[in-house]
Amino acid sequence: MNYIIDPPAQPSLPVTGSAQRFPIRRVFCIGRNYADHAREMGASVDAAAPMFFCKPADAVVADGADVAYPSITTDLHHEVEMVVALAAGGSNIAPEAANALIFGYGVGLDLTRRDLQAQAKAKGHPWDVAKGFDHSAPVSALRVAGEVTLDDDSVLRLSVNGELRQQTRLGEMVHGVPQIIAALSTLFELKAGDLIFTGTPAGVAALQRGDHFHAELVGVAELDANII
Ligand code: MN
Repeated sequence: MNYIIDPPAQPSLPVTGSAQRFPIRRVFCIGRNYADHAREMGASVDAAAPMFFCKPADAVVADGADVAYPSITTDLHHEVEMVVALAAGGSNIAPEAANALIFGYGVGLDLTRRDLQAQAKAKGHPWDVAKGFDHSAPVSALRVAGEVTLDDDSVLRLSVNGELRQQTRLGEMVHGVPQIIAALSTLFELKAGDLIFTGTPAGVAALQRGDHFHAELVGVAELDANII
């Protein structure tokens, strides 16, 4: 291809045990997918209508890379989430067909400018500046789906400076992974390379410059970084 400027770099993530990387197409996120987190935000769960938003693919930061504290905000929050990576996609996918599309799993942080999100909610504005800013999506290396067993008792957790901040069983999700993929695929045509953040449990709180976080989908993936 003969581009008039240099084409942007292709965002990607490492794959555990492989020399090859996973290229990222889009980043989808579900909101309010754990009842205890919806409650702490003063919101309620709508089990009939999951709520989605997006981050840019180049907001993804790989494991171990420093995360720069973002501009404008004074209330940067962590939201630890299981991340699902797709090897194939489609539209109007049946929940029973969804698991076969999954490439693998990771753990990520849906970093949020909570103060800007509160302002957006109050004004009825979109969430892009609260959720989709540069470096807003640290994600671990991906683990190939066939290598791991996840169930309702699998544990997702986050500690900051060695102190446990968030912990849940995956069974606490309101919408399970097949339901999330099915619902998203009615709104967007999903494709290979898509990442899906599957929601955060209670315990979201502020991160400060100098903090070290350690996120874990136990037995599957780990993510470490410093906020600088
Ligand atoms: Mn989130």
